[in-house]
Parts: sequence; structure tokens; C-alpha cells
Amino acid sequence: MNIVFAASECAPWAKTGGLADVVSALPKTLAKMGHRPTVYLPYYRQVAKIVPKPPVTIPSITIPFPDYSRFARILDGGEANGVQTYFVDCPELFDRESFYATPSGDYPDNAERFGLLSRAIIEATKIIGVPDVYHVHDWQTSMLSVMLRSIYYFDPVLRRVPAVLTIHNAGYQGAFPPQTMEKLLLPWDMFRFDKLEQNDTVNFLKGGIVYSDAITTVSSKYAEEIQTPEFGNGLDDALRQRKADLFGILNGVDYNEWNPETDPLISAHYTPGNLKGKQECRRDLLHAFGLQGIGESTAVIGIVSRFATQKGFDFIIDIMDRLVQEDMVLVMLGSGEEYYERLLVEVANRYPAKVRVQVKFDNVLAHKIEAGADMFLMPSRYEPGGLNQIYSLKYGTVPIVRATGGLDDTIDEEPNGGGNGFKFEGYDSNALLDAVHRALATFRNKEEWTAMMKRGMAQDFSWNKPAAEYVRVYERVIQNRS
Ligand code: ADP
Repeated sequence: MNIVFAASECAPWAKTGGLADVVSALPKTLAKMGHRPTVYLPYYRQVAKIVPKPPVTIPSITIPFPDYSRFARILDGGEANGVQTYFVDCPELFDRESFYATPSGDYPDNAERFGLLSRAIIEATKIIGVPDVYHVHDWQTSMLSVMLRSIYYFDPVLRRVPAVLTIHNAGYQGAFPPQTMEKLLLPWDMFRFDKLEQNDTVNFLKGGIVYSDAITTVSSKYAEEIQTPEFGNGLDDALRQRKADLFGILNGVDYNEWNPETDPLISAHYTPGNLKGKQECRRDLLHAFGLQGIGESTAVIGIVSRFATQKGFDFIIDIMDRLVQEDMVLVMLGSGEEYYERLLVEVANRYPAKVRVQVKFDNVLAHKIEAGADMFLMPSRYEPGGLNQIYSLKYGTVPIVRATGGLDDTIDEEPNGGGNGFKFEGYDSNALLDAVHRALATFRNKEEWTAMMKRGMAQDFSWNKPAAEYVRVYERVIQNRS
């Protein structure tokens, strides 16, 4: 099968979260299975820094807008692990400080930026090769599905090509003023009749939901949750209408990147059979955060996260004064909402011997936390898939999570100390604190704790199974359209 991945992020070139990891790892696995995946990604300034002068595959593609045209080049990002990558180069739109937003807000022309991306990918594939299926991701490339079924409706080559949408986070939908329809040359009747319209805006993600042949999301639990008003963020109705074509496929992990036996970014390697290296990683982590004199009986709790309400930072801040009474230290890495960045720095300044925070995006430090911490804290309000808890399992770093989305699907707390982690229900910081207390109590029993670490390390969340599930979805939509 030829599969085109249309995405706004792909590790290692452009990453803000899990989307980038999925768009990097899933195609590699599909290639190993004998398929031919191609990834299309914007040529952001950040990508240009890594790949300064890629060969030009298509020197000019014309993208019409109502009063003018824009021109995009397609650059050859090369082939690696059986995956061909192309970059969509349009400097006016992508040569910017960040991917989507600056601290003062979203770029005002995001509809045009990602509308152009979708259309340029369709045009590029018409020249380079039309796939058997397009796989689009989140609101940023949802317009590809919409355009296939509108602007390109009569295209003899494209009309039988289906599109699959994966929702990595229904909390981000890409909502723009109604005039966006005209800007992207889309017919107005797609706005009305409960199609792209949502609260009088053009909602890109909703367009993807309505017009893609199938929709997947990154865990079974989240696939159910987003059909409810609480998690659907206004799109629950549209999703319920597509229930028959909606599938939950749990994210896998790229164990070439995240494996304590081989990880080049950590200070020592270790295995379930020989955990000595983990102690070295723990020392290295404490050093990286400038914490001294921390004995083995003190639990090191780690966090790697976007600093956002979604990730449960209000819970964490709420319990902080009580948490620091315990025999533990907390090390946090993240960036995001200024409000939380400031609050967390304040908390760390209040308890310098116990709480440390580094505000930045740092892949090496993320690996060091996974390897060096004893516990990993992830009390998300909602979590579509969540990758860090799965990485943590592999590194013997016991997750403490809230029972939502992918966290609920992957972490299991058993009453008698079995399971692979600690989990709480409810929207309640006391429930989080109770879960941390349970974890700390188990941590004091070395034998029980080591057994729990090893159970997590033995679990296999590799991409093989989810990739096979994606293939079944591709086959289904191809068949339905042929
Ligand atoms: P989300 O996509 O909602 O941000 P996920 O858990 O699915 O959450 O994926 C987050 C990914 O981003 C993980 O690979 C994690 O290690 C990485 N990450 C998040 N914040 C940082 C950071 N500040 N520094 C380095 N990596 C980060």
C-alpha cells in the first residue's frame, strides 16, 4: 500500500508533542511491514536548521486564493528506514519563530497556512504519486479530507482515494471566521447543514470528522470519551454520527528511541534483570537538577509535560504544600502556558530542596527523567493517548496517573499491589494525593516496588500491533471507495 502521511509535526524535525512521535514511528513500522509510506511536512524554520539545503523535487506548485496565488516548492527530505519525506516550502507561511503560535497567541493566518499545506500536499501527490490512502492528522491537515471531497471532487485520479483522520487531541480544533470558506475557495454549502460550521466558525477538525472516510484516535477509552459532551468539546455530536467509522488505536512506542538497554542519551544502561544502571541514571538526573544529598529512600518523582491545564497542573499545584511534607523530591521539565510556567517556578523557589523545574523543551533531559526518576506523575484532566506513561513503564519508572483516555487503557492498579502503576479517578486533587501516598508506601517496600517496576518493563507497547490495526482501517476505506 502507498500511504501519504500529511502532518504538521514529525520527529525529529518538528515536534511539540505526541503527534510528532506517531508520525515518525508509525510510517517506519508500516515500511517494515512492506508498505510504502511517504510523509509530507511543512518546511518550518526549525526544519531548515536541521536540513538546510534539501534537493528540490518540485520547483513550483500554484495554490490559488481568491485575490492572489501562493507558490510552494516541494523539497526532498530523503529516505530513511523505508520512509520518504517531503517538505512543503512556503517561506511566507512557514519560515517563522514557531509552528503555530507566539506567546501572544496563535498566528492570525493559521487557516491559510494549514489550508495551503493540505492543498499543496494534494497537488504534490498528483505529480509525485497519488497514494492508495491519505492519512491526515489533527485539525492542521483535516482540510485535505475536505478538499478531496469538494475542490477535487471531479478529479478522476483522486475521487477514489480515501482519507483517514487521526485525532491526537480533540481539544485543539482549528476554529476560524466564516470567511475562511471563501479564503480557501470552499463551497458555502459545506459550511452549513452541520458540516464545517461550529458555533459560527469554520472548524477544521469537524471538517475532517465529517469528510474523512474513517476516523481514528489514539486510545480506545478516548474514542469513547470524545463521543460525550465532556470530552468532545462540541464535536461529540459529529463524532457520534461517525461512530461506525471511528476506531481507537492505542499509540505504540518507538523502542529504538525509548529503551533503557540502548538509549544513547542516558548515563548508564539497564535491563529488568540488572537494574544497577538505573541508580547511576538517578544520580545523573539529580545532578542535572542540582539536587544534592538525596538518599535512596527518598522517592524521585518526575514530570515531562506541556505545561497546560489539560495535563492536570492545577491538581499538582493544589497538593504541593502537602506533597513536600513527604520523603520525596519532584523534578519537572516542560514549557507551555505562561501562567503555569510562572506558578511552577514560584513553587520551586518556595521549596528549593524538594522541587525543581526546568522550563524548556529538551529531549535529552526528557530521557534522563524517564530513566532516573522512580515515579512518573501524569494526572491529566484528559489524555487522548499519552506517551510518557508508556515510556516510563519501559524505564522502570512507575507511573501515577489519572484514569482517563490512554492513561486508563495502559496503567493498571491492583488492590493487592499488583499492576504496573497507580491510578485515581475523579476530578479531585485529594484523589491525586492519595494515589501518591499509595505509591510512596509501596516504594518503601523494595521487594514489592522492584516487582512492579519489572512488570512494567516487561510490557510490550511496540508499534507492530497498532500498525497492523491501522492497515486494517486503510484496507477498509480503500475497499469502501473502490
Ligand atoms: P502531548 O502530545 O499531549 O503533549 P504525549 O504524552 O502524547 O503528550 O507526548 C508528549 C511527547 O512530547 C513525549 O515524547 C514527551 O517526552 C515530549 N515532551 C513534552 N514536553 C517536553 C519537553 N519540555 N521537553 C522534551 N520533551 C517533551
